[in-house]
Amino acid sequence: MSKAVSIIYQPVEKLETIGPRRAAALNKIGIYKIIDLFYYFPRRYLDRSDIGKIATLKTGQVTTVIGRVVNYEFKRGKRNRFQLYVTDGTSYLTCIWFSKFTYWQRIFKPGEWLALNGKISRYNGFQMVHPEFDRLGDNAEGELVHTGKIIPLYPSSEALTNAGFDSRGFRRIFVKILKIYKDKVEETIPQDIINRQKLIPLSSALENIHFPASVEMLEKAKQRLKFDELFFMELLIALRKNNVTNSSGGIRFKKVGDRVRSLIEKLPFELTDAQKKVIHEIHDDMKSSKPMNRLLQGDVGSGKTIVALITMLIAVENGYQAALMAPTEILAEQHYLTLYETLHHIGVKIILLVGAQNKTERQKVLDDIANQNADIIVGTHALIQENVDFHNLGLVVIDEQHRFGVMQRAKLREKSLNPDVLVMTATPIPRTLSMTVYGDLDVSILNEMPTGRKPIITQWRPNQSRAKIYRFVRDHVAKGAQTYIVFPLVEETEKSDLKAASDSYEKMKGGYFSQFKLGLLHGRMKSEEKESVMATFKAGDIQILISTTVIEVGVDVPNATIMVVEHAERFGITQLHQLRGRVGRGDLQSYCILIGYGRLSAEARKRLDTMASTNDGFKLAEIDLELRGPGEFFGTKQHGLPDLKIANVVKDIQLLRQARKEAFTLVEHDPQLSHEEMLGTRHYFLRNYRDKYDLAWVG
Ligand code: ADP
Ligand code: MG
Repeated sequence: MSKAVSIIYQPVEKLETIGPRRAAALNKIGIYKIIDLFYYFPRRYLDRSDIGKIATLKTGQVTTVIGRVVNYEFKRGKRNRFQLYVTDGTSYLTCIWFSKFTYWQRIFKPGEWLALNGKISRYNGFQMVHPEFDRLGDNAEGELVHTGKIIPLYPSSEALTNAGFDSRGFRRIFVKILKIYKDKVEETIPQDIINRQKLIPLSSALENIHFPASVEMLEKAKQRLKFDELFFMELLIALRKNNVTNSSGGIRFKKVGDRVRSLIEKLPFELTDAQKKVIHEIHDDMKSSKPMNRLLQGDVGSGKTIVALITMLIAVENGYQAALMAPTEILAEQHYLTLYETLHHIGVKIILLVGAQNKTERQKVLDDIANQNADIIVGTHALIQENVDFHNLGLVVIDEQHRFGVMQRAKLREKSLNPDVLVMTATPIPRTLSMTVYGDLDVSILNEMPTGRKPIITQWRPNQSRAKIYRFVRDHVAKGAQTYIVFPLVEETEKSDLKAASDSYEKMKGGYFSQFKLGLLHGRMKSEEKESVMATFKAGDIQILISTTVIEVGVDVPNATIMVVEHAERFGITQLHQLRGRVGRGDLQSYCILIGYGRLSAEARKRLDTMASTNDGFKLAEIDLELRGPGEFFGTKQHGLPDLKIANVVKDIQLLRQARKEAFTLVEHDPQLSHEEMLGTRHYFLRNYRDKYDLAWVG
């Protein structure tokens, strides 16, 4: 980097008007270097570009007037005020302030030129109350900052305002630094892409985003800066993907193995076509010498577990260990039992590792893992702890991957050299967007439910209908249906909500549901207690399970057919869909009843209506995305993706596609970004995305 360029990477304190106190206020909002200021974008704009002559003003019009100060006076009255008289040669304008009299008296000088912007009223001639203004000096040609053009308004806060950074303060700084440092900004996108995409130069975009020369230039500036964000995000994804695909030394799982074939033959059900197809896709990856990095996307109940199980058995048949990581103990336990029941009798050694095991148990488990006394290891995030040493881990499966952060997945992967990785999720992402969020993974989709499933009947009801709902539950349980009743658990008020579940349990047990066998399940129970409750429920010896959201993901009890969600208005669509997914897992007719409390917000109502209208996870995802916006919806941080400040992956989907195409082509031709014309791109990437790239080895 040349010396001339580097000035903008110096701390903001280098600027004349910024001392330690003001710098601290900027640091607080993530602005450290001069260049960071350039990227502090306006929150919106006011168009003050329209300049009017005083003689032709109209009441109610908002406009800018450029005129010379004639004089001023302080007036007493019902409200004291400071009056400033201005003329532009066509007529006179009176400007009025109701406070800070001495201040105004001090700063305005008769004879100086001002640009004033405000709403025109009429009272003995034209007036503006509390106008925005620029002092232009002793002629009309002075610089317009706050008036006379399209004016940026910046996000501010009390702390910023106190340090002089209200919108005016920011404008004053930006005018100065843009002028001095604009040309020091290094171009970030190679010229041929700029030409092809018809983008304006970066320095011009940064100038116009703050001080648009016109509405058209503002649009062009936005377009350019959005493109940059999307381009670098896609570049990150393309480089990650390139890194995985081109790394050699993945494991070749050569054989399928007899035990795999006979297992598939002996399953109590026929695999769906979708399951067969997906197993083939996975197996092809496993056979190749490149490490697998695949996402299995399938709606709740589509049968992902059996796919994982077969995949793991293939690894075992090839002499490797396989690990399965699940987000909750209940789910890990359940997977353990399923695997044990299915694979134990054919000689596969399965082992469970969860946080709750005591020291002796834990040591035995760790020894077994290290000595290859375990073929398949099932666990929670306990699996990624340092003292877990795998013997020869060949395959990693992560269930409900959206529940894990990027770091956790990376750590499990690091437990071995280039293991194959399969991540599974039931949170569908609108198809148009999965290419970005899962851009560096190959994707398999289970788009078919096992045969014989009946669509779940979903309705939502107000709290007042509770008696009726409970009668419905009672009638069905009497006929053999098992039921979940779920209470929300919101973090801040964890205790009181927990109380809601356990209080209701006590009440129902002694009251309305006294003739049935009830169970209680929540996250604070000891592992053994949880296990025993789940086992009893699975065996049918608990008829109604009162629970918190610990059962939200993965739990599989096909005989359970009724799901009642209390305070359903507090849940998001994705969560409700997951909860609903606990029923409808066999061929019995299932019901999901959502109870809303109090007066519902329009949004809550929309969520519940939506839930009642469809069982299709993809449709629900589209609507959820619309309601919550992309940031919330994806958890960009979890996916190791950068936050987007100006672009929006939904609204700017077209631009995203172009940016993606350019980024992927670029990486194909120059994965090191080493070509001469790539220098600026490389610099910018390393400066802003390096930490995210270092997480390259994750799903
Ligand atoms: P999810 O995709 O939500 O993890 P599971 O793997 O838990 O779903 O499967 C849901 C239920 O469907 C389980 O009880 C499982 O045994 C059953 N199942 C899976 N595949 C099939 C199939 N092809 N035919 C019938 N039932 C199946
Ligand atoms: Mg599952």
